[in-house]
Amino acid sequence: MTLNANEQMWSDLGIDLESHGQLMNALGPIYGEIYLSQENRPKGMGFYDFVVGDIHGIRVKELREHAKEGGKVVATYCVFVPEEFCWATGAIPISLCAGTQFSVPVAEEVLPRNTCALIKSSYGFKLGRLCPYVQVSHLIVGETTCDGKKKMFELMAEQHPVYVMEVPNKRGAAGRTLWQQEVRDFKAKIEELTGNEITAENLAGAIKKVNARRKEFKRLSALRAADPAPISGKDALLATQVSMYDDVDREVQMMQALNDELEERVRKGEGVAPKGAKRILISGSPMAIPNWKLHHIIESAGAVVVGEESCTGSRFFDELVPEGTENLEDMLTVLADRYLKTNCACFTPNTERLDDIIRMARDLKADGVIHYNLQFCHTYANEAVQVDRALAEAGIPLLRVETDYSDEDAGQLKTRIDAFLEML
Ligand code: SF4
Ligand code: SF4
Repeated sequence: MTLNANEQMWSDLGIDLESHGQLMNALGPIYGEIYLSQENRPKGMGFYDFVVGDIHGIRVKELREHAKEGGKVVATYCVFVPEEFCWATGAIPISLCAGTQFSVPVAEEVLPRNTCALIKSSYGFKLGRLCPYVQVSHLIVGETTCDGKKKMFELMAEQHPVYVMEVPNKRGAAGRTLWQQEVRDFKAKIEELTGNEITAENLAGAIKKVNARRKEFKRLSALRAADPAPISGKDALLATQVSMYDDVDREVQMMQALNDELEERVRKGEGVAPKGAKRILISGSPMAIPNWKLHHIIESAGAVVVGEESCTGSRFFDELVPEGTENLEDMLTVLADRYLKTNCACFTPNTERLDDIIRMARDLKADGVIHYNLQFCHTYANEAVQVDRALAEAGIPLLRVETDYSDEDAGQLKTRIDAFLEML
């Protein structure tokens, strides 16, 4: 069998070509149906279509070339991991996606079925040798954010170099001390991996770069407050998902162009859905590529998603690392503190997240909130009780959904979402 250039690259990376081919064949039509069928999309989304059109090609090639020249690739699963250390040492951080049902069955041969889809999908990608991003990485960085994840990382470490960061359960003084040390240990790990020292100078540069991308995403978020919304929730989600594994400088450029275009749309009163369309804020678990299920159901029903209070949304970009600190120690302290402000349900208490949801719902003029919970995720499911109470008190309608990556419940979800939109 003659392999084309991409297939040869995947084969060199140890990918199971047959299963991978099935995954790629499934993704194309799904993307066509969910994304390319949308009308009146911003031209700036052309870049993201191009990236997804060659999702395991061009970016993987870049990463391999980087590795051939001695550079390192660091893969992560969670927004707690400070990517600035990677950029500072010339390594490339990539966030691994784990948003497909395709990699779940292979994981279920090992993991209990009643594990959240994100954990199963992550593990299945490694076990089934399905993802070239996993294969091209020199190190996978995990975290102790939830019990299922930390146990899965122990198993994954049998197959790939894994480093785990300990995230505290509480944000008090003891938790902060622990996290400050964890961040410094991770810095040492990245220095050891790359052979490059992190200095005040290269870290300041990295902080600036990542902040620049965060600022563009904050700008995008503010533009989504307009009615009519200038961009669909699906497209905004895709831009976030792609930027989590793309080059940071390129993302700043692409997002600047997209935001300039959206600004013009807002000025002219142009949107993707008619003025007055129902506006929904999503809150909850992250949605990794190609998990576009909920957005697609909501927007197919005529509403528009105007924000995501999640790690593939506001938790990825809301907080900037303060710039202007000159010595390395102070820089590490403010950087660690910034990451500790990630309002993940793994913290107790996590009332800051409740405030965020209400603030975002108001700023983005959402008519209602849909709380998205991955099945078997106990942290978010239990925190949803408090989200429910807080939103009821604030007078903001809420629908709680629990789902996974399969399409089995799509009909049932559609019925519930239609009824919710009707009620708003
Ligand atoms: S929800 Fe929590 S564990 Fe998951 S990516 Fe976000 S911060 Fe990490
Ligand atoms: S969605 Fe919940 S169970 Fe799944 S990895 Fe995140 S915190 Fe853990």
